[in-house]
Amino acid sequence: MRHKLVVGNWKMHGDRDLINRLVEGIIDGRPQISETVEIGICPTYLHIEQVAKLLLAANLKIRMGAQNVYCEEKGAYTGEVSAPMLAQLGVSLVIVGHSERRELFAESDALIAEKFKAIQANNMTPILCIGESLEQREQGITEEIVLAQLDAVIREAGIDVFNNAVIAYEPIWAIGTGKTATPDQAQEVHRIIREYLADQDTEVAAAIKILYGGSVKSGNARELFDQADIDGSLVGGASLEAAEFISICKSAD
Ligand code: PEP
Repeated sequence: MRHKLVVGNWKMHGDRDLINRLVEGIIDGRPQISETVEIGICPTYLHIEQVAKLLLAANLKIRMGAQNVYCEEKGAYTGEVSAPMLAQLGVSLVIVGHSERRELFAESDALIAEKFKAIQANNMTPILCIGESLEQREQGITEEIVLAQLDAVIREAGIDVFNNAVIAYEPIWAIGTGKTATPDQAQEVHRIIREYLADQDTEVAAAIKILYGGSVKSGNARELFDQADIDGSLVGGASLEAAEFISICKSAD
């Protein structure tokens, strides 16, 4: 049985006061949610330590996440942050391959695979984001695009690495747009992803969590979570409001 995971991606939002309020709200709401539902939050690099301290003091089951990482351990990479640095701060989940990084920062499949490996080498869990653009969906090549993004990591790192990984299916046309994939549309792609993994390793496919991301909110979370292959969500905008995020997490109970 796969337990649900709900992860908030705060993107480039928040100052110290907002972060304090947000974390406190999530800490207050956590006891209302079943322990079997895993929760993670991903602030900016700059706020990780602040959030980690609050979480440590609260001693609740909330996982510390990061939105990005660089693939090298150390060196002359101005502006970058390495996986050992994140691990030292108590980070256990790292988003990799988010469409905003693929598009705005030209991250290639090859770089994403390197980052994925660096995350695991430091005992953290990658959340690998994959998803098609609206144009690709309209061209009927969603399956091809999503599986190619997945394959780029499998080719480089093997299927076994998915024993310790999460996949987030995030149709680009649904991110931050208010347009959610219907539960059927999302389930269809999640099923394709799981079947593709099952062709290579049935145990990996049965155990891996596949999250849906794209304008998830309290009003649509439950019907998405009710789908057989949807194991939770990566939540952007709606995770910036504690009550709304907690309400989404409750839908995963
Ligand atoms: C995301 O950034 O991963 C995301 C799903 O954003 P939103 O929920 O705002 O669409």
